[in-house]
Amino acid sequence: MLADKDRIFTNLYGMHDRTLKGAQARGHWDGTAGIIKKGRAWIVDQMKASGLRGRGGAGFPTGLKWSFMPKESDGRPSYLVVNADESEPGTCKDREIMRHDPHTLIEGCLIASFAMNANACYIYIRGEYIREKEALQAAIDECYDAGMVGKNACKSGWDFDIYLHHGAGAYICGEETALLESLEGKKGMPRMKPPFPAGAGLYGCPTTVNNVESIATVPTILRRGPDWFAGFGRPNNSGTKLYAISGHVNNPCVVEESMSIPFEELIEKHCGGVRGGWDNLKAVIPGGSSVPMVRGENMRDAIMDFDGLKEKGSSLGTAAVIVMDKNTDVIKAIWRLSKFYKHESCGQCTPCREGTGWMMRVMDRLVKGDADVSEIDMLLDVTKQVEGHTICALGDAAAWPIQGLIKNFRGEIEDRIAHKRGPVAAE
Ligand code: SF4
Repeated sequence: MLADKDRIFTNLYGMHDRTLKGAQARGHWDGTAGIIKKGRAWIVDQMKASGLRGRGGAGFPTGLKWSFMPKESDGRPSYLVVNADESEPGTCKDREIMRHDPHTLIEGCLIASFAMNANACYIYIRGEYIREKEALQAAIDECYDAGMVGKNACKSGWDFDIYLHHGAGAYICGEETALLESLEGKKGMPRMKPPFPAGAGLYGCPTTVNNVESIATVPTILRRGPDWFAGFGRPNNSGTKLYAISGHVNNPCVVEESMSIPFEELIEKHCGGVRGGWDNLKAVIPGGSSVPMVRGENMRDAIMDFDGLKEKGSSLGTAAVIVMDKNTDVIKAIWRLSKFYKHESCGQCTPCREGTGWMMRVMDRLVKGDADVSEIDMLLDVTKQVEGHTICALGDAAAWPIQGLIKNFRGEIEDRIAHKRGPVAAE
């Protein structure tokens, strides 16, 4: 179990003082100017060496992403944009940072922006996060008053402005290019790539979009060194990580743990076990609603990292672990996700706009068993036509849960259809 001394987030549960004074007492904002004075190349190299991979779901190496930004300006400013639009069902980790430990994020924004030659950073926060916005804005205001940000931030010689932008509550604005569109005041619709944001992002300028947790870990990594961070977890999966466990466990929680923690250990140590015991475990969605579910018995020996969950046919995603016990109607659970994705599709590309509605309507009937068995394969076929054929990953996100359901619980779907049709039809 991760020792308290190795926790990056020292106020995850809001038990301590979240103000600047409290954060400083816990070691944040310590020697920030000194870190900046070591220079851009040093910071980027340290981040690469730490092995930090983006915590927003895709898992792209953070240091490498930063290195794509132009070293010299061609006249355009560079920007850091922090994706705080945490809207993935089941995912509730960044909100704990923003409402209880906001200074980890603000300090990270300053250092990361400097490393990418950006004098300005925008944090795009989810529309529904009202209290989180208030807490984060209060922390930003404190930092301006104390000279931690603004002109000559932390007396480092670097001028830095930070803006908090409140979204309007559309899931698709968590997609980085839709987020940029929304930030520019337009409809939140994903852009075609290329160009990638590092070439032409916010207002057509070089931009890096990073997740809240990724940025909030940066100051501690630089203070304690990349080897310390890389010492947790398996190679290629290093660091500490926030896991958000919900559903049928005895104590749902958000907890910072070492990457690569075994699934059973995570659930036993932090969540008091599965409701009704391990034999009552039916299925797990291990990384937020858009990753495929895994059957309970297959999940028990899972290693909770990028590679471990890939081996299980799923993904670490946002590390939002949704646990379902045997009381769960898994067909209905996935139907609910289909409804969500249909509602959140921006409608820009046909396979997603039409496909999400089509898939949801078939799922509507599968929940009731009001379908023909042949429709299961037809549904699977439609998910394959949506997957990989859309502008952004929402199409995949809508397709994968259904694929996971069919792969793992086809028998349950067939039983329901047979039951609905009665004994004669079932023969
Ligand atoms: Fe919009 Fe869906 Fe296309 Fe993404 S995949 S751009 S959400 S229609």
